[in-house]
Amino acid sequence: MNRTLLIIKPDATGRRLVGRIIDRLERAGFDIVRMKMVRLTEAEARRFYAVHEGKPFLDSLVAFMSSGPVVPMVLEKGNAVEDLRMLIGATNPENAACGTIRQEMALSVEKNSVHASDSNENAATEIAFFFGQD
Ligand code: UDP
Ligand code: MG
Repeated sequence: MNRTLLIIKPDATGRRLVGRIIDRLERAGFDIVRMKMVRLTEAEARRFYAVHEGKPFLDSLVAFMSSGPVVPMVLEKGNAVEDLRMLIGATNPENAACGTIRQEMALSVEKNSVHASDSNENAATEIAFFFGQD
């Protein structure tokens, strides 16, 4: 078993897609071990996306991620990081495989409905960002 972080982004909370996304995650075998709804400040969103410092899309991404409520959650499953990345699909929904969450729900490359950690190391950092060390 390992753990990863998923965030339901503001475009999805705003369209009342929280339940549908959670249903997809549970049906795929993920256990939700922590979850909450929060509104990030711009400073918090910038800190969360510090790895993207200098990228042209960062300012817009930070504004978007602090524009409404988000639902971060810790998910547990064997091979959690890789399996969740497969389930959400490519960053740009135009490239996301059929049946993935982003292909089904995302509005654009920015407003792509969900975030998922991309490695075990980043998962640990991102889980601690929202839920501390416990
Ligand atoms: N993003 C964007 N434009 C881009 C690339 C990324 O707006 O050209 C946004 C998008 O919301 C994405 C986030 O920045 O989910 C983080 O980018 P990353 O490359 O880490 O994609 P992810 O890991 O989310 O698939
Ligand atoms: Mg990423």
